[in-house]
Amino acid sequence: MSGASAPLLAVRDLRVSYRVGPGGARLQAVAGVSFELARAETLAIVGESGSGKSSIARALLRLTPADSGAALFAGDDLLQLAGVRLQAMRRRVQLIFQDPTSSLDPRMSIGESVAEPLRVFEPQLGTAQRAARVLAMLQVVGLASEHLTRLPHEFSGGEAQRIAIARALILHPVLLVCDEPLSALDVSIKSQIGNLLKDLQQQMQLSLLFISHDLTAVRFACDRVLVLYLGRVMETASRDALFTEPRHPYTRALLASVPVPDPSAARARRARPPLQGEIPSPLSPPSGCVFRTRCPLAVERCARETPALRAVGDSQVACHRAEELARTDA
Ligand code: SF4
Repeated sequence: MSGASAPLLAVRDLRVSYRVGPGGARLQAVAGVSFELARAETLAIVGESGSGKSSIARALLRLTPADSGAALFAGDDLLQLAGVRLQAMRRRVQLIFQDPTSSLDPRMSIGESVAEPLRVFEPQLGTAQRAARVLAMLQVVGLASEHLTRLPHEFSGGEAQRIAIARALILHPVLLVCDEPLSALDVSIKSQIGNLLKDLQQQMQLSLLFISHDLTAVRFACDRVLVLYLGRVMETASRDALFTEPRHPYTRALLASVPVPDPSAARARRARPPLQGEIPSPLSPPSGCVFRTRCPLAVERCARETPALRAVGDSQVACHRAEELARTDA
């Protein structure tokens, strides 16, 4: 759960953009995002498709270049690393994708795939030592020795995600970035893999960035939540604060569509309007508050002034009317 010491990762004003189309217009996918992740903490980054969640993950892992900003990780800026230090970072920061088969070579047996990171980063290991590490890791994720010689296509989606998790964790990383790890799975399998990730996070004291559009999965798995919209942070709060007292109209709209077991909370949610319309193009974001074209509370000021992220109750919220909303709820 949450650590109280210095953050493992501190992201400052991260900006990522892409050139698109024949004219080379610039699409601002991440527009100045800052957050911190403590040791052994799980931070969920949630938002609709097109909110910039995956671009943050890709920039941190150096799979896509950042325009500017910093990502301080154990004393180094991840965005500036090169050469040997970048290689060392790749060992300590691992990624799990939505589609587990994308990280598995279809021609390699599962045993070979899970062993591959060890061959690269721990070449001193003998064959028997490597095999023992692979088998132990497979068992940790709920697979057995008879799976070692099989190929990826012989596994179900849930099993393939277990294998991808084993491959990501075999080097004992300190930070695991999970990009929609449950989205491609059946409902019953989702909770199994969600449980597995949560257990492993606790056992291995991992810091987890859990990227998802699925608020149900987030509620179960995370300590804190960051809500993203058009590449900007709308709200950040502890899980409990966010789910019991969402402060931003966007968070409230997202939550209005999530089933909740508590009848009084369910009534409160029904009173809030669910999300309407589509997320605007990041090529031409609205002026002022980027959420204003879908916000039921938008006023003239919202088109003129970009709301800054500031403390409201136990949350950080970017909305001109957050205090008013909080009073209405009281
Ligand atoms: S700043 Fe205005 S448009 Fe944006 S969320 Fe708040 S009320 Fe809505």
